[in-house]
Amino acid sequence: MLRENLEEVERRVRAACERAGRRREDVTLIAVSKTKPVLALREIMDCGVVDFGENKVQELCGKMEEITEPLHWHLIGHLQRNKVKYIVDKAYLIHSVDSLRLAKEIQKEAEKCDVVCPVLVEINIGGEESKDGIPKEEAIPLIQEIAKLPRLKVRGLMTIAPPVEEPEEARGYFREMRELFMAVKEAQIPGVEMKELSMGMTGDFEVAIEEGATMVRVGTAIFGARSYAEKDK
Ligand SMILES: *Cc1c(COP(=O)(O)O)cnc(C)c1O
Repeated sequence: MLRENLEEVERRVRAACERAGRRREDVTLIAVSKTKPVLALREIMDCGVVDFGENKVQELCGKMEEITEPLHWHLIGHLQRNKVKYIVDKAYLIHSVDSLRLAKEIQKEAEKCDVVCPVLVEINIGGEESKDGIPKEEAIPLIQEIAKLPRLKVRGLMTIAPPVEEPEEARGYFREMRELFMAVKEAQIPGVEMKELSMGMTGDFEVAIEEGATMVRVGTAIFGARSYAEKDK
């Protein structure tokens, strides 16, 4: 059953790529498995998916212990500084760096483990008070500071678009993200390689792809709804 969900998502990803004149291989589909049991992840792994997204450090570490196959574990949720040490050598990509203090903590822990940590900078593109991420005006100044930390490699930007009724209403936010992405790229900050634009979830991933997302984070459309109690995890 999950396989059918995945096939449907895959079909929609392909169609969006085609509409946008983009190649399918330029978009990574991240299966967002938060709150879902290991068995469900295995079902999706068996379909050939290697990119999984989790938003809690503890849950990600627990699942990694159970699933030892080499997967790409993406940390997509807010990261607290006191959790960095558990994740710094495990995450394939941290999508949610949104302060210099957090970046410095990652630097410190990555140094200890002798690893280099690829990160995305999270942008609050809708300017919502409730959201993590930095205002877009702060992106270049923050990335300039992070670029001085040798153990972090900035690889792009991430956003969660504000909730909208119709996916089409998110297009403007995604377009702004694309423009910001290009602006950071053009700033040519040493050590910064702008490759990834992580945006688009179940409700809006097709529009995100049309507007240039290189990573979409899809949970519900693959794994089904999360139970209410687990929703905010
Ligand atoms: C939960 C989550 C997703 C996936 O959301 P769906 O609407 O279930 O696809 C994507 N990104 C982040 C940061 C999330 O926390």
